[in-house]
Formats: sequence, C-alpha cells, structure tokens
Amino acid sequence: MTGSSGLLRLFRILTLFESQSLNMVTQKNTSLLSYNSFHFDVNASELVSVKSVNELQELLHTKTPLLVLGGGSNILLTRNVEGLVVKIDILGIEEVKEDNTHIYVRVGAGENWHSFVEYTMKRNWGGLENLSLIPGNVGAAPIQNIGAYGVELKDSFYELEAYDRKEKKVYSFAVNDCRFAYRDSIFKSAEKGRYIILNVTFVLRKTPVLHTSYGAIREELKIMGVKSPTIQDISAAVIKIRRSKLPDPADIGNAGSFFKNPVVDQSKFLSLSSKYAEMPAYPHEDQSVKLAAGWLIEQCGWKGYRKGDAGVHKDQALVLVNYGKATGREILDLSEKINLSVTKKFGIHLDSEVNIF
Ligand SMILES: Cc1cc2nc3c(=O)[nH]c(=O)nc-3n(C[C@H](O)[C@H](O)[C@H](O)COP(=O)(O)OP(=O)(O)OC[C@H]3O[C@@H](n4cnc5c(N)ncnc54)[C@H](O)[C@@H]3O)c2cc1C
Repeated sequence: MTGSSGLLRLFRILTLFESQSLNMVTQKNTSLLSYNSFHFDVNASELVSVKSVNELQELLHTKTPLLVLGGGSNILLTRNVEGLVVKIDILGIEEVKEDNTHIYVRVGAGENWHSFVEYTMKRNWGGLENLSLIPGNVGAAPIQNIGAYGVELKDSFYELEAYDRKEKKVYSFAVNDCRFAYRDSIFKSAEKGRYIILNVTFVLRKTPVLHTSYGAIREELKIMGVKSPTIQDISAAVIKIRRSKLPDPADIGNAGSFFKNPVVDQSKFLSLSSKYAEMPAYPHEDQSVKLAAGWLIEQCGWKGYRKGDAGVHKDQALVLVNYGKATGREILDLSEKINLSVTKKFGIHLDSEVNIF
C-alpha cells in the first residue's frame, strides 16, 4: 500500500473539493428492489449515488454508510437498511501508460464490468476475454477476485485506489497488497468493509495470450467453426456458454454461485474419492484439491428444490434463486439447510461466496 501517492491524491481531492459544487442524488425511504440481482424488496432509509471521489469525501464527512453498493449482483439483503446506502457510480476509462507489450488502463469503480470487457475487446487488448459477461461493476471485481474459465481478475490487475474509512485517506494497492486468492482478497476478509474502491488499473496485453484450457471453451469454439481463435472469439464463446448455463437475473433473481467451491487437503480428498469415485475434483495450491460445491449440493438432493419462491436452480445446484417474492431471510435459511446436509453427508462446510447483509 503506498500512502505517499495516496496523500498527494488526497491533497488534490481536497483542493478540488473546495472549488466544486457537488450535486449528489439522494433518495429517502426507497426500495432496493432494482439495486440487487436477487430482487429483494428491502427498504433503505437513505440511498445516495456518488459520481466522484469528491462527492464520496463530502458524504463521508458527515455520514457513515451501512452498505456500499456496486451493481448489487453479489449481495444477499436479509433486512431493511436502517441507514445510508452508498452506490458507487464513479465513471471513466483512461489509458494511463503503455510500453511495447502492455497497456495500462484506469477504470472508475462504477463502470459496468462487461461493458469494460467489451471496450477492451474492441481495442484487441488481451486479458479479460474469459471474464466476459460477469455481472456487476469494476469496483467490486477485486473484492472477490472475480474469476471464470481459468482466469482471474488478479491476472490482469495492476493497482487500485481505495478510500480508507478508518484513516480517511486514499491509498494505492499493488497486486501483493490485495492478497488475492480464490474468490477472496483483503477487501473481503482481513479488512472487510474498511476500504471503498474508487478505481482499478488493469495491465492488458497488446499481443494477447489465449486461455483455452477449459473444455467448454474448446467445444464451443469447435461448434462456432473457429480453428484459430482470437480474444473476440473466446469472449463470444464464453458469452454463449454463460447464457446457456446460468440463469439471467433479469428473468429470475439470483447472485450466481451462492457458495465457494470447497478446498480440501489430500487426506480428505482420498477418503471422499474412495467412496465417491465420480466426484469432480481439481488440483489446487499446495497439494490441496478443489471440489465442486454444486456437485456436493446435488448429491444431497437439492437441485430443483423449491419452497414458496425460494429455491435451488433446476440446472445449477450452486445457484439459489428467488422465483418472485422470496425474502433474503428465506434464501439464507435455505442456504443454511443445504450447508447442514452437505456437512452431514460429506463432512464439508461450504463458505458463502455471496456477501450477506
Ligand atoms: C448470474 C451471475 C453470474 C455470476 N458469475 C460470476 C463469475 O463467473 N465469477 C465471479 O467471480 N462472480 C460471478 N458473479 C458474482 C458477481 O457478478 C461478482 O462478484 C461481481 O464482482 C459483483 O459486482 P457488483 O458490482 O454487483 O457488486 P455488489 O453486489 O454491489 O457488491 C459486492 C460486495 O462488494 C462490496 N462493494 C461493491 N462495490 C464496492 C466498492 N466500490 N468498494 C468497496 N466495496 C464494494 C459490497 O458492499 C458487497 O459486499 C455472478 C453473479 C451473477 C448474478
């Protein structure tokens, strides 16, 4: 974390702060229905959209937000928010530097993730193609080090700037400061809730390197009749696979994978695989093994389960869904029941990938 550049930036911000008249959009007693992909109809006493660092500074001067929101696609709202919700709508895409091989692009936290991926595809900058169509905004992407089809955000990450709510300063974080791991970072674990991400700088390849290790991508490229794929082909293949496999939150409320895939040590893996020979398993770091949470849940008979409007998707056991009027509490209760049965059958506790409020 580099405090000095943060302090310089803070000085710039404060100077600007005094000379600008700010115009934040504030809503009182408003429903968050259209601000979360589960479509829970919870109330926020106050919802403020901030479009610049100055606005955020001004707001935090007098108020303490209970919830910071991006696109709302990874959050389970189990109750009304009796206080302030800040929606981070800071926009802007800026090419900050380049060398012979790479281009460095700084992106405002409020930019839509997939729109930014499309922006990079148009310019033939490689790195983010496998992460196409992941919902949400750029500012939340480092929080759980978003990943899909063999690629993670950390692979194209250069740095980010975040406002420290404790020290009331802006700091820069390089890749090692973020402690990225599988669906995790310092922002989701050790320092959860402390920092508000303002912008993220990506380092993208001028000569792309393709990641086609996932069988589904290779199969889709074959169906598309592509023999020498480009990053645009990979992006198109990923979009097709995702559309065919994952429920669209516009049609049915969900937040993607509800649980993380559990990581177990060798001895646990060997004892389970001797009993369940067909159990999917993938090598992970330090000899550990990643299991498929969806498979474990399916084996416990939950796939397609529905009680009222809370359920488990009929094709994806890892995706919990709101068919209409389910509450966050009902989905949370369902997730706890699922977890208990997985623990009972396999001796494994599942961690939530979704952020619970
Ligand atoms: C259909 C579907 C498919 C998905 N597929 C994938 C996938 O393949 N891979 C994957 O990794 N994820 C996936 N997700 C999860 C989700 O898209 C990502 O986690 C995404 O990064 C969330 O972005 P968001 O802006 O919607 O975050 P939000 O839901 O708004 O927020 C998520 C968390 O980050 C915090 N937060 C948000 N913005 C900021 C900020 N600027 N500063 C500090 N904290 C902040 C919030 O308080 C909350 O705790 C999927 C979700 C859905 C609905």
